[in-house]
Amino acid sequence: MTAGMTPDEFRKHGKELIDWVADYYERVESLPVTPDVDPGAIRAMLPEFAPELPEPFTEVIADLDRVVMPGITHWQSPNWFAYFPGDSSFPAILGELVSAGLAQQGMLWSTSPATTEIESHMMDWLVDLLGLPQGWKTSGPGGGVIQMSASDSTHTALVVARQRAQGSASLDDIVAYGSAQAHSSIEKGARVAGYRHYRPIEVDEQFALRTDRLEAAIAQDRAVGRHPAFVCSAVGTTGTTAVDPVRAIGTIARRENLWHHVDAAYAGSAMICPEFRHHQDGLELADSYVFNPHKWMFVNFDASAFYVADRRPLIETLSILPPYLQDAASQSGSVIDYRDWHVPMGRRFRALKLWFTLRSFGAEGIRSKIREHVTAAQTLAARLEADDRFELVAPTPFGLVSFRHVAGDSATDRLANAINRSGRAYLTASKLPDGSSFIRVSVGQTNTTTHHVELLGDLIDEMSDPA
Ligand SMILES: *Cc1c(COP(=O)(O)O)cnc(C)c1O
Repeated sequence: MTAGMTPDEFRKHGKELIDWVADYYERVESLPVTPDVDPGAIRAMLPEFAPELPEPFTEVIADLDRVVMPGITHWQSPNWFAYFPGDSSFPAILGELVSAGLAQQGMLWSTSPATTEIESHMMDWLVDLLGLPQGWKTSGPGGGVIQMSASDSTHTALVVARQRAQGSASLDDIVAYGSAQAHSSIEKGARVAGYRHYRPIEVDEQFALRTDRLEAAIAQDRAVGRHPAFVCSAVGTTGTTAVDPVRAIGTIARRENLWHHVDAAYAGSAMICPEFRHHQDGLELADSYVFNPHKWMFVNFDASAFYVADRRPLIETLSILPPYLQDAASQSGSVIDYRDWHVPMGRRFRALKLWFTLRSFGAEGIRSKIREHVTAAQTLAARLEADDRFELVAPTPFGLVSFRHVAGDSATDRLANAINRSGRAYLTASKLPDGSSFIRVSVGQTNTTTHHVELLGDLIDEMSDPA
């Protein structure tokens, strides 16, 4: 058998692996959240050279338990409170399975009409579900596309902004701005896109961008002949989920003729609940927007939703037409060819997992999970605030609790280490802009409930030094 497996073997082993994954989800809660493994230990279990002859697939499956599991960090444990969530769900996993099964390349409409049209439709559904501007639908001047990551989406926005600015400025002079708390992907994207100048702008006491500092920086750059081209607003920074003043930044961007990109990678999912939408007030002043369903909308990585208010500059910047990619459907202008919307040409059928997830949960199912996460996080924040040993360092507008031990950095670091070493929960030790330590508790794993957050509160209580 030269194709690796017969259809009947595929049926058999496929079902075994579905059981294996289902079993994993049933027991993941009881596993220590992080593996106890030394660097190199996983590789040491692998043979030095690839096999020359076929091996039985039963041995491959056995190695999942023997080789893989000892080195797995359990992002899908309900006791996962580190970084931001990187969620999955059974419907999304099945979407991935079918996507792999169909193995499409959707670079052009004609290379996979269903890949393109279901993706456009999902992106339009999300516009309504999240209360995004209606003009961002494919029926309007804008449109959405699924990219691999928020970093790719932001990089794309930076490239379009650069192209737009280069009409009247040299590459040496163009400048990008973001808050000092903006995600590293803004600065990295600017570097990759060839910007020589990136300006981190000072934040206020809530860690949101100070627009007076932004205006001053723009004026200073203009005074020395530079060309301000791009500004990023964050709705939910990675550090503390601070919310930048999107409307005020958008107003400055319009006046100063900058491309305005909004990064809501994590918090964007919350906008499916109308009560959070005041945090994105002013989105109609954005030129582009990104949020990651693969963080907190129960869809497996990779699925980053990138929108532009006007798709023309995006397509003009990224479309290059070699003869082998020209076809009648594309030339008719009546279809979308998503290869012109991002860097990669080939693209897989990522909309399936979004479609399966939205239909299996229903919007109400997603809303109730997000509401439970946020309420549990806010309840934990209130419990910590009421305890003399702790203080909150930032508000909890979404699912992130940011706090520290009042005894200082070493007590805070000790607490984070003790919890993480216990294996009973996993959270992130981080630093504020002033260099002091704090702890991030991010509530958002698909199966995390109020109960798990209460247990974490008990664990914090148990493992903390006295005040
Ligand atoms: C997680 C995050 C990113 C990066 O997301 P990727 O999809 O991993 O590139 C960017 N911005 C913010 C605010 C984030 O929280």
